[in-house]
Amino acid sequence: MDIGNLVAPSSFCWNPACSEYGKVHAGNIRKFGRTPAGTQRYQCKLCRQTFVETIGTVFYRRHRSQETILECLALLAERNSLAAIHRTKGVKEETVMAWLYQAAEHVERIEALLLANYQLTRAQLDAMWTYVGNKGEKGAMPKLASAALSGAA
Ligand SMILES: [Zn+2]
Repeated sequence: MDIGNLVAPSSFCWNPACSEYGKVHAGNIRKFGRTPAGTQRYQCKLCRQTFVETIGTVFYRRHRSQETILECLALLAERNSLAAIHRTKGVKEETVMAWLYQAAEHVERIEALLLANYQLTRAQLDAMWTYVGNKGEKGAMPKLASAALSGAA
């Protein structure tokens, strides 16, 4: 899987209730054995939550790299318009919206990734989700986006 230059999912805490949530190289993550399937497991020393190294797999089977997807979402959070993102990143408006709808189904993971990779504030993240209505609520999803996302799970 292409994760571009993103920080490794194992380098920050994924627990939104943790004070080190999304903070990279805070020294709070340690290796914590393996799953029965042999996948490396990590633990946050602060909140004691455990993670597996594959937790970052949110945009599975997308044509663009996770880095491009996250960058577009970060640009949205910084209140760039969809038209501006199309101009600068060459990604169509409906594509960015489709990513955002998919991101809304993994709010905690996406926010952790964005916080770990970009200088974003809580207010900017909240502004981003206003594009898709109530975050994580499937009922708020228009038919068009649902169709664009079918088979993406
Ligand atoms: Zn933690």
